[in-house]
Amino acid sequence: MPFDTQPWTEPGPQPVAPGVHRIPLPMPNDGLRAVNVYAIDDGDGLVLIDSGWNDADAKGHLRDALVALGHDFADVRRFLVTHMHADHYTLAIALREEYGTPITLGAAERESIEAILGGSTSRELGEPRRWGIPDEVSMRDIGIDPSHSREVYQLPDEWLDTETDIALTTRTLRAVPTPGHTAGHIVFADEAASLLFSGDHVLPHITPSIGFQPVIRRSALTEYLASLRLLLELPDMMLLPAHGPVTDSVHVRVKELLGHHDERLDATQRTVAEGATTAYESASRLTWTGKHRAFDTLGTFNQFLAIGETAAHLEHLATTGVLEQTVRDGVAHYHP
Ligand SMILES: [Zn+2]
Repeated sequence: MPFDTQPWTEPGPQPVAPGVHRIPLPMPNDGLRAVNVYAIDDGDGLVLIDSGWNDADAKGHLRDALVALGHDFADVRRFLVTHMHADHYTLAIALREEYGTPITLGAAERESIEAILGGSTSRELGEPRRWGIPDEVSMRDIGIDPSHSREVYQLPDEWLDTETDIALTTRTLRAVPTPGHTAGHIVFADEAASLLFSGDHVLPHITPSIGFQPVIRRSALTEYLASLRLLLELPDMMLLPAHGPVTDSVHVRVKELLGHHDERLDATQRTVAEGATTAYESASRLTWTGKHRAFDTLGTFNQFLAIGETAAHLEHLATTGVLEQTVRDGVAHYHP
């Protein structure tokens, strides 16, 4: 049963469950097209899951949507943010400056945010070297993410580091850490209403990127797969994702994502059997996006993402004993 009756990026608040509104906001220069903020009625105010990108256009759309719901920014009681990526977190930081609205975020995001505030990222920390990107392939222009600038990031008011019940006026949200997409990613479950605010952990139409953040965790895919399986242990719920329409089953999509990564792990393992030894070499032999594009046809930024994604798969194959890993001169090599 479709819960959204028009294209999911259509502006304005869409009612998706009693007391819950999906608000798609535009994103600057981004293939994801829009990000959903969810506004939850809470007494005489609202609680927002995620905030959108700190950008005048997004802020205007959010204001219009809140006004359409009979509210304004001052009525937002708190931001519950699924993870530290700019499209989820940075508008909350800007609005906190103006309205003092408190922000809650997963504790394992701290390392990456402190790296941004300190001006360093995994690029400086040598991760691309470990991936075997040759010196002549210049990826110097690639920041880990240009939006991760010191000017727009600050620490939240509250860190969540474990499963926590958050009592709102008329409902309880259970915050569940789901590391993988980022180290400190959190989903929010309203089990009584059978709703899962999934952030970027589970998306209906695309496969979330793995471990792409300023401080990269090598175990990102291993953690991600465990975080997917964790959702199968909870009752099935409606999927309220950060990108894409609302759908009626978390479990159906989780099983598809697990299947996708099984296929990618097999394909990655095959590249090593055929002679690739580094993440760079393996990524160059794989195909990318739903359209199976050759690595060479991707832009530099997407090549960088692809290599990082491959590195996460190779680390998982090494962790699970499928491949051998040796590190020479800071470069990780893999063997059958
Ligand atoms: Zn994200």
